[in-house]
Amino acid sequence: MFRVGIGYDIHRLVSGRRLVLGGMNIPFKKGLLAHSDGDVLAHAIGDALLGAAGLGDIGIHFPDTNKRFKDISSLRILSDIHKKVSRAGFRIQNVDSVLIADRPKISAYRAAMIDNLSAALHVAASALNLKATTSEGVGEVGSKSIASYAVALLKKR
Ligand code: MG
Repeated sequence: MFRVGIGYDIHRLVSGRRLVLGGMNIPFKKGLLAHSDGDVLAHAIGDALLGAAGLGDIGIHFPDTNKRFKDISSLRILSDIHKKVSRAGFRIQNVDSVLIADRPKISAYRAAMIDNLSAALHVAASALNLKATTSEGVGEVGSKSIASYAVALLKKR
């Protein structure tokens, strides 16, 4: 049995925060405001996986009211989600994702991000695809914020 899930996340770009995407520290003048490290890509992927497994969402499992999750690495969140999904009897088939950011350019970090994410999820790098796009200056998504979409396919073991 196969199950599909969708995930979406967005965080606001602010001064005085480091920018973490796909577990990579990316040099940039702003970072993403969040209780965790603000890694929107990891959060979208995590929500897609939880959704496919029928396990709710990241907010249920890692509430931003819990001090334990303050500034937590989102790769750790993904590792935990991998455990939950595995315990529920699912194996990850593939994940596809999109990052929406006008700046910085992330193409130089793409391979390293995929390495980080696939290691956290215990899947081959080939099971994880990452696409990047800008918002063409339309609205505030991608300029004043960075957003991400992901879909995940799971197979029941
Ligand atoms: Mg988030």
